[in-house]
Amino acid sequence: MSITGKHLVAGKWIATDNKFKSEPALGDVHEFSVGTPELIDQAAQGGEDAFWSYGYSTRQTRADFLNTIADEIEARGDELTKIGSQETGLPEARLQGERGRTTGQLRLFATHILSGDYLDRRFDGALPDREPLPRPDIRLMQRPVGPVAVFGASNFPLAFSTAGGDTAAALAAGCPVVVKGHSAHPGTGEIVAQAIDAAIKKTGVHPGVFSLIQGGTREVGSSLVQHPLIKAVGFTGSLAGGRALFDLCAQRAEPIPFFGELGSVNPMFMLPEKMKTNAAELGNGWAASLTMGAGQFCTNPGIAVVIAGSDGEEFAKSAISALDATATQVMLTDGIAKAYRDGSERIAATTGVQSLLTSTCDQRNASPYLFQVTGADWLADHNLSEEVFGPLGLIVTVKDFAEMSEIAKSLQGQLTCTIQMNDADADQARTLLPVLERKAGRILVNGFPTGVEVCDAMVHGGPYPASTNFGATSVGTMSIRRFLRPVSYQNIPANVLPDDLV
Ligand code: NAP
Repeated sequence: MSITGKHLVAGKWIATDNKFKSEPALGDVHEFSVGTPELIDQAAQGGEDAFWSYGYSTRQTRADFLNTIADEIEARGDELTKIGSQETGLPEARLQGERGRTTGQLRLFATHILSGDYLDRRFDGALPDREPLPRPDIRLMQRPVGPVAVFGASNFPLAFSTAGGDTAAALAAGCPVVVKGHSAHPGTGEIVAQAIDAAIKKTGVHPGVFSLIQGGTREVGSSLVQHPLIKAVGFTGSLAGGRALFDLCAQRAEPIPFFGELGSVNPMFMLPEKMKTNAAELGNGWAASLTMGAGQFCTNPGIAVVIAGSDGEEFAKSAISALDATATQVMLTDGIAKAYRDGSERIAATTGVQSLLTSTCDQRNASPYLFQVTGADWLADHNLSEEVFGPLGLIVTVKDFAEMSEIAKSLQGQLTCTIQMNDADADQARTLLPVLERKAGRILVNGFPTGVEVCDAMVHGGPYPASTNFGATSVGTMSIRRFLRPVSYQNIPANVLPDDLV
């Protein structure tokens, strides 16, 4: 099946009169139907109808469904690589890798729910003879919350989009999903929706379990998060967009949780003993991480904090030469490229900022920017702690470790913080760690934060503004918790209890 430009609404492919055009980096432009609040209503109602069977289905049924979606995505592998690469400008190899990650996540969730640990079952047996009062039989387990909304990411057209981590976690939990398609890759989204539709038909689950409504207007997203049948939202995107939708969720008559993964500058702290021997290598490694995927990763390490002196200078020199040698890369959308240029102008115009490398960024193409500022100037202007999405680096040169600690303490919430150290830096690392724990969802030593492992122990989240909910992760098996809520069952007879609790 080729691209039709239609929405998938609870098992039906529907076109609307108004159209918007895709803006591919290369290849054919396609027309897509604009979403409407009426379609959102049908999709949410379909999700609610499906919940009465899907929300109470066996874990095996849902695991089979997830595995079948993975199979159907693989069956459309070449088609997805082609359209995904055309729409986003990302290389084909990246799309292939992301496909593996997407199907891997779906299968991981299938295995995860079969093991049953995620139910977090607790049993407090009855104590009929307890004085002064007997204790009833009390059991607890996690239950799905109901239909959920998912907003895909611009920068992960597969792994964080239509059948990405949020959708996989919600479907695994037992929650029907309404996806708001991302305007950066509507064709990729539609092909993935075709794969999910095929999996629905093969496994016989209720068709309302999944809908994809394309955008074209901001009304689609805002009416989705405000729909009374939607019970939670998973979002990956910008701070401004995420905050606007988060506020709408909070203002509802029945407020609902909004799990937004937003921006982060992912600072790296270069400790002095490590810098004595590895400054040039670190400058090189930082530049490589900074430019990966044209810097369009939420975990892009935008800030490096170094102590002033010859090692810091060597670090900067090596970063400049590695960044200078980086070829121009295509950005995901014209809008993201413009935001990148605007962000670099904002940084360049800030007091105390020195430009080390300027970019030839035009239209949708980007090459790196590199800036330097003292710790004192950075601390004086919080503008400098805000993310610029793209391959832009800022070296913050501090007087000493005390000032480095001040920088760490003044950070806003981050997805990641990284320490570069060797054994002789351990005392300083021990001082930094408790500070960084309060700032970030993931702390790394001697690595670079780009590349997020999908596993049980992963946290991709953090205090605001890295995410809107610091207790959650959007990557890894723990992300299923966002779409579950605990229920206690008191004195319920065994023949009435849900099977999973007997
Ligand atoms: P975006 O502009 O916030 O868009 C994300 C989605 O939300 C799109 O579907 C968009 O609709 C919709 N949307 C945005 N504002 C809205 C509003 N006011 N009302 C209704 N819907 C709205 O983000 P993006 O440009 O795709 O992504 C770039 C940003 O995402 C960067 O800042 C980056 O740091 C962040 N990001 C974060 C992570 C993470 O895990 N934390 C991962 C990747 C990216 P349209 O399709 O119509 O635009």
